[in-house]
Amino acid sequence: MENVIEAKNFIEEIINDELSSGKVNSVHTRFPPEPNGYLHIGHAKSLCLNFGTAKKYDGVCNLFFDDTNPSKEKTEYVNAIKEDIKWLGFDWFEMHYASDFFDEIYNLAVKLIKDGLAYVCDLSAEEIKNTRGTLTEPGIESPYRNRTIEENLELFTAMKDGKFSDGEKVLRAKIDMASPNINMRDPVIYRVLRATHHRTGDKWCIYPMYDYAHPICDSMQGVTHSLCTLEFEDHRPLYNWVVENTGVNHKPRQIEFARLNITNTVMSKRYLKKLVEDGAVEGWDDPRMPTLTGLRNRGVPAEALKNFCEEIGIAKANSEIEVSYLEHFIRDHLNFNAERAMAVSKPIKVTITNFEGEEDTDFVINPNDESAGVRKVKFTKNIFIDEEDFSLNPPPKYFRLKKDGYVRLKNAYIIKCDDVLLNDDGSVKELLCSYIPESRSGEDTSGIKCKGTIHWVSADYGVDVEIRDYDYLLKDAEYPGQDFSERMNYDSVHKYLGKAEPYIESVEEGTPFQLLRKGYYKKTIKDGKLILSQIVSMKDSFKK
Ligand code: ATP
Ligand code: MG
Repeated sequence: MENVIEAKNFIEEIINDELSSGKVNSVHTRFPPEPNGYLHIGHAKSLCLNFGTAKKYDGVCNLFFDDTNPSKEKTEYVNAIKEDIKWLGFDWFEMHYASDFFDEIYNLAVKLIKDGLAYVCDLSAEEIKNTRGTLTEPGIESPYRNRTIEENLELFTAMKDGKFSDGEKVLRAKIDMASPNINMRDPVIYRVLRATHHRTGDKWCIYPMYDYAHPICDSMQGVTHSLCTLEFEDHRPLYNWVVENTGVNHKPRQIEFARLNITNTVMSKRYLKKLVEDGAVEGWDDPRMPTLTGLRNRGVPAEALKNFCEEIGIAKANSEIEVSYLEHFIRDHLNFNAERAMAVSKPIKVTITNFEGEEDTDFVINPNDESAGVRKVKFTKNIFIDEEDFSLNPPPKYFRLKKDGYVRLKNAYIIKCDDVLLNDDGSVKELLCSYIPESRSGEDTSGIKCKGTIHWVSADYGVDVEIRDYDYLLKDAEYPGQDFSERMNYDSVHKYLGKAEPYIESVEEGTPFQLLRKGYYKKTIKDGKLILSQIVSMKDSFKK
């Protein structure tokens, strides 16, 4: 086949083989979220895989909402999911809901009954669980297993018509109570459940189970490769059983891949929802959340996220990726795309006693993008520097500012600290410095060797800014498998009242900046207040 291309992972190897042998002649995937929460970065991996694979083979990918569980699903989530997918830059071929196929799914259940392959069972959920057997012992057949086809058809219709209460009866596939695979021991395929569905309302009081509905929906959509995470590996025989025994025309294939797990990151919708409900975060879009809406709000570029997903690849075994690896991609992207600017989080006042008036300094907007050019930054007698760039008791090899020491102010001059004024509590109130006129950046003839360069903000022109730094929501695990609830970091936002260059006021909201020596920050405005919130820190701790 001409569309066989070099395989980058085991899924592409499978597809290549199938294309060569003629088993398939095109690729059709789907991304199948359940609309019971917001998408997170794990979903980004699945999105990149599903849309990426389809694209690679010139095929298509559907968006498929798996809405078979009405009590947890909401239209709010459907809309948010669509928005997140668009943000990542993916376009679906068709959009479907499992609920679009409820009639077909029901009719195929009737067909299974008619073929003697499904029966109505009166055992309670508890009894079904207790008769399922174990890994070493077979299950026990239900006393209702041998109902006649007529009786089953009548009872199933009565289930649909609301004649039974929730949980009173279920429909089970009649497979094999002695199967070594517990999923094949007469699994429940329909249940009675009175819940208003976000799309079908109260039309149905019975709902199909995921394992039964999913292969049918894949088939109805023309999906060729149904990619899902590893926990469904043991469900594959059931998937195939449904495809074979319902007699659907089109036969999709399920392939499992490893979930994405990231250190210091919660990746379960259930737990993320709890964080939102408990008020531990400001919402699903809190910048500390690993949701796509949170990452977008944080200022993480979609491109960086896709590069990360591409680079981690697809594996057959679960593992945990260092969060610093993700940050590495974010930083890498912003390094090339973000303008530079200066701001201080904890300002200390510096007076340059021998300087009068003001002077323009040249500031390179983005050293990685010459076309961005240069802008002017006013240097004045009164400036602010960051508290951590001055030390009263400097350790050896301290290259920032200290009493009687020299430091270079970025793009401006070398200054010397002549005097330190203290507050009553011993903290630094003001630094009295002098500048070296011959040391102007780019034309320095002073001969002074000065190892440190620090950023600064003019006190005459600088504007008030709130600087927000973030920590991870989860602390490191103390032992493998430690529960998320024990790992919560309740001190994950740090806010500072700082000073920034006035230039930052003039740019559009949402603009990312590299604040020199601090990291990457996004500009927002809230209640008239200028805020710079951290996207990612400056330091790359990722070791390749
Ligand atoms: P969660 O456990 O977080 O609720 P889920 O698997 O129930 O996740 P779905 O909405 O059912 O969420 O998932 C949609 C698709 O995304 C599925 O194919 C699922 O396997 C995949 N997916 C979910 N989490 C991850 C992850 N961490 N890594 C890779 N794929 C994932
Ligand atoms: Mg799920």
